[in-house]
Formats: sequence, C-alpha cells, structure tokens
Amino acid sequence: MQLARPVPWPNGAKVACAITLDMDADSLIHIHHGEDAQNKLSATSMLRYGPEVAVPRILETFRKYDLKQSFFIPAWCIENHAEAVEAIVADDHEVGYHGYIHEAPNSLSEAQEHDWMCRSIEIIEKHTGKRPRGNRSPLYHMSAKTPEFLAQEGFVYDSSLMGDDVPYILKTGRGNLVELPVSWATDDWPPYVHAPDLGYMFAPQSPDRAMEIFVAEFEALRHSPGGLWISVWHPFVSGRLSRWQRVDQMIKYMLGTGDVWFATLEEIANHINAISGSGEYEPRLDSLPYSNGMQVPQELIGKA
Ligand SMILES: [Zn+2]
Repeated sequence: MQLARPVPWPNGAKVACAITLDMDADSLIHIHHGEDAQNKLSATSMLRYGPEVAVPRILETFRKYDLKQSFFIPAWCIENHAEAVEAIVADDHEVGYHGYIHEAPNSLSEAQEHDWMCRSIEIIEKHTGKRPRGNRSPLYHMSAKTPEFLAQEGFVYDSSLMGDDVPYILKTGRGNLVELPVSWATDDWPPYVHAPDLGYMFAPQSPDRAMEIFVAEFEALRHSPGGLWISVWHPFVSGRLSRWQRVDQMIKYMLGTGDVWFATLEEIANHINAISGSGEYEPRLDSLPYSNGMQVPQELIGKA
C-alpha cells in the first residue's frame, strides 16, 4: 500500500520523525481554576514535574542520540519556567508557539486571538532570540482564523491538524503555511493522563502498551514510505521515569532501522518548501475555510 503523495526525505529516509514536546506545565491548572489554582497543590506539583524534572531528563536523552527536536511552550510558561526554556534553547532545540496560557483560540474573539498571539511572539523572541516559526494550537483548538493570523505573522508551519499522513499546504488569504499533521494515535494524553483536577480521567496504561500504539504508526509508515511520524507528548506525562526509559528504547530502535530522518518541525517544513519550490514535489493544497459553500439543513442541526 503506497501513500498518494510520498515525500522524498533527505538521504533516502523512509520516514521523517519528530518527537514534539508540549511543555504546558502549570498553565493548565491556572487556566482551568483561576485564583483557586493556588489551593490545588497536588495537581500543580504534577504539572511542574514537567519543567523541573522531566525536561532535564528529556534533554539528556536528546543529547545522547544527538537529536534536535521541537518544543511547544505557552508564553506564560516561558516566563514562569525560564530555566527549563534556557536549557532547551542552549541545546539548539526549536521553541514554537502554544498559546499564551494554553487558551483555546477557537473560544476567543478574532481580536483577542491575534492580540495574544502577538504578545506571545514577543515573549518567545525575548527568551529564545528568535521569532517562532511554528504553531501547535492548545488541545488542537485552532480557530477558523488561526491559519491566516499565522501566515500574517510570518509563521512557516502549523502542526495542529490531522488531515493526512504527509505534510500539505494550508492556503490562506494571507499566504501559505506548511501543515505538519498530527494524530491522537501518537498523542500521550489518551494512554496516560489521569488528572481529576483538570477533568481528565483515563485509565493509565503501561509504557509498553502505550508504546505499541506509537510504534504501530511508525511501522506502518516504514512499510508505506514517504510519510511523517510526529509524537505529541508532554514532559509531565511522557517524561515520568518508566515512560521515558521506554521512549529511550524506542528512539534507539527507530535509529537502528536506518529508515528515519529525525528533525525539528521547522527543518521538515523548510524541506517541504524547498522541494516544492524546486518542482521536485507537489504537495496537496487545502483551501480554508473547509465549509465554504456547504449547505447543512437547519432542522437537522443538533439531531446527532
Ligand atoms: Zn498543550
């Protein structure tokens, strides 16, 4: 079974791989509970485990395998966990945009969304020395306007949508973005997160069981070359000791296949732009918004 538009990856790699880390930290408890957050010590400590304990561990593994990867960090977390961010930047990893305090763009007004995006870009630039090139919308909650705002602010790519196995192009009124699609199948939230104060109560699985799902996606892409494997993991979730030890084994295995190109999402997006610019590859174009011209019978809305 072949992919419809396999991407020619550098050095003949069959799969482009990116372990992306969304460092939400305690932004989640603050945005959910406001002033009452300070009275929720246990949940706060669970979330702060991310920048304080997991990030150094994750960086050590990336150094061991000589990987440069992408972190998506709410601007509020960048200001409140500057030490972790400094360490990430010192190791040359990418820092992308992930909201100001993990707010959902599709629950804001257009003006609010753009305003918080601009304030966050300034904070990212101040702490990393570079404007962000990539976006991951918090909880994938992109609004109809997000792609246009991203293009307007000079972003190169988004990584919040789920429309393909390979990168594609989002066409907006303000220019194009490379979409580096993700999937709930490679997100660590469903197999691991149990956080009653945040309203998530899944049944945590063993690292081996969780990794079976993530690796199944990888193996499928090796057998149908030219695709993209992106994990969406969180330091406070996947950076726990037993889970991260299992990740270490997974990286070793993936590298050992000789079939992979590990890169930051910015590098992957730049590659797509380069090969489509030279005519070597023709990516799929998605014109937004999706619902243009579609008719939905009013009397059936809400009858699902
Ligand atoms: Zn997040």
